[in-house]
Parts: sequence; structure tokens; C-alpha cells
Amino acid sequence: MTKVFNFSPGPSKLPQPVIDAVGKSVNVYKNTGKSVLEISHRSNEFADILNEIQINFSKLFNLPEDVNVLLLQGGATFQNSFIPMNVSKNKTLGCFVTGTWGNKTSEDFTKIFDNLEIIDARNQDLTKYVGGDFDGFKNINFLHMTSNETIEGVQFKDFNNLNHDNLIIDMSSDLGSYSFNFDNLSYVYAGAQKNMGIPGVTICLVKDDFLIDTDNPKYLNLKLLTKSNSILNTPPTLSIYVLNLVTNWMIEMGGTEYFQNKSERQSKTIYDFIDNNNEILNCNVDSKFRSKSNIVFNFLDDSQNNKFIDLAKENGIIGINGHRSVGGIRVSLFNSIDDDMFEYFMNFFKKYISESK
Ligand code: PMP
Repeated sequence: MTKVFNFSPGPSKLPQPVIDAVGKSVNVYKNTGKSVLEISHRSNEFADILNEIQINFSKLFNLPEDVNVLLLQGGATFQNSFIPMNVSKNKTLGCFVTGTWGNKTSEDFTKIFDNLEIIDARNQDLTKYVGGDFDGFKNINFLHMTSNETIEGVQFKDFNNLNHDNLIIDMSSDLGSYSFNFDNLSYVYAGAQKNMGIPGVTICLVKDDFLIDTDNPKYLNLKLLTKSNSILNTPPTLSIYVLNLVTNWMIEMGGTEYFQNKSERQSKTIYDFIDNNNEILNCNVDSKFRSKSNIVFNFLDDSQNNKFIDLAKENGIIGINGHRSVGGIRVSLFNSIDDDMFEYFMNFFKKYISESK
């Protein structure tokens, strides 16, 4: 079988050491005599896994004491109803929308939360929202945003320079690829299936003061879920186990600093190549906000997009078609894309472009 180079936007490529470890543990987990698929969420083994994740997250993200790690089911989209149900009705909630995922969130929030304030910044110069001069967030207690818009390839991670003190951030497609601090963040969440593992678990990093008492049913009650250390009911044990392996691997590789450097280096190479061939290729995204995780571009000659994708597939490169809503090409450079794999793609890309000239 031809070797496959998986650049998919998610579920995405996993690091090989993680796949090898899962393979072994599916057979027999440590010295338990049973498969990792069979371990109880109330067992000591699972308590160890949760404990290690807690330690690894603290190391990777330098988490302050008042930030809790909560692991939930339902995917990132579930958060669109879960979050507004856990914000006090006498507070104001807003959405800073920079792309499709943030827009979906705002549409869902409105169904649950009255008086939602929406700042639709799609296709606008995002610099105008940065810094003290923009006061459009001032009446909003909690402001939702999406750090990396996976479909459009727009990334906004200058959180500390947004004029807001309580951000709620969907980091589904870039958590783990840079360091950030919690100074003006209240709640961060991410489906695991990009940088952090496989579908089934959503990582939530929750500040103590975001937790309020509500009369929500237990399983929709953020405070109770957080206090139960993610085992109020049966959690997705396998997805959590894979998350643990991925966080161990990330630490071994050099932590978020390593992945930040890698994604800056790789994304610069590809964007420079696109810009240097602008008689054939086009990237629409403002250079200041181009995603380092998902490189979205297209051929000026529309008929070339599918040709490129098909030929890439023949060469083992998969997952690079743009999202069905925008078309074109999307190359995802998640943490698992090492330099060899990246170089393989770039060689293919360069050859294709030189032959099109
Ligand atoms: N937010 C972002 C930024 C995403 O990229 C995605 C999935 N691609 C989602 C939310 C939805 O995630 P899920 O499928 O886990 O609900």
C-alpha cells in the first residue's frame, strides 16, 4: 500500500508513538490483564490517567491554580448550548465572530440566551478590534470567540490585547500549538480531534470564578461536572486515555514552545510560496491573521483545485480539500505534522507549480 500523508483538518493525523501505545494497550493495558477498552472510569488505573492529564496540562499550559481541567463529551458544538446554560441570566453574553464556527456558536447562543450581543467581524480588518481604542465589548460580561477558524484559515490569538476581561474561547483547532496566559480568559474549550487526540472528548479549562450555582440538570451543570473531576457519569475513557498519551508526547517533544516554533516555520514556508506564486495561487486571508494551523488557499484557475487535490492523492497526500462551503485547498499543519511530512508536501507542491508555469 502507498504510504499515506494525512493533512486532514480533523480527525487528524496522530503521532506514531501514540498509535503504537494505543495498539499495545488495546490488547493489554499495563499489568491489568485486560484491554484499555475495558477499564472502569472508577478504577485506580483511570484515576491515574486523569491525574497525569491534570499534571501534563499544568505543565503544557502553565495553568494558574484557579483553572480546572474538565473533560466532557458532546464535541465542541455541544458547548454552544452548554455554555449559555451556565452563564447567569443577569449577565450579558456576546460573540465576537471571525468565521463559520464562531457564527454557528452565535446562532446557537441566541436560542438559549436572550440579549446576546453579536459583533460580526467576518471579512473585516481585525486589527480594529485590538487594543484599548475599540470599546464595542464594554457592555458584555462574557465574550465568546474562536481562536482559529478552521474553515477560513483565520487565526486570532492576541487575546491579551482584546479589550475584554472575560473571554470564552473555542480553541478546537489550535489548542496545543502555542502558549497563552489566562489573564483575561474565563473558559477555554476544544474538541480533542485536531492537536490533542481523537473525537469523543472535549477539553475544558475553566476558571473558578466562571463556575456558578444553577438549577441545571446535573449533567448540564458546569460547576458540578467540574467538581466531580470529569467522572460525574461515565466519561469517554478511550478518548481520555489517548489524550493522556498525546500530552505525554507533547511534553517529550518540547511542549507548546516546540509546536509554536514548528507551526510558525512550516506555515511561513507555505504562505511565502503561495505569495511568491501569486500569478497562479491566491490566499485571501489578511497576512496578520493567517492561520498557522490551517492554510487555506486556491488556484486562480478554478479547474486546477481538483486536479491538484487528485494528483496529491495519487502521491499519498490526503485531506487537503477545502471545506465544502468554501472549496479550494486547505492544508492542516497540526502538531503531528513533522518536518519530513511537511517537506514531502512542499516538494510535491513546488513540482506541481513549476510544471504549471
Ligand atoms: N469549532 C471549531 C473551531 C472547529 O474546527 C470544529 C470542528 N471542525 C468545531 C468547533 C466543531 O467540533 P465538534 O465536531 O467536536 O463539535
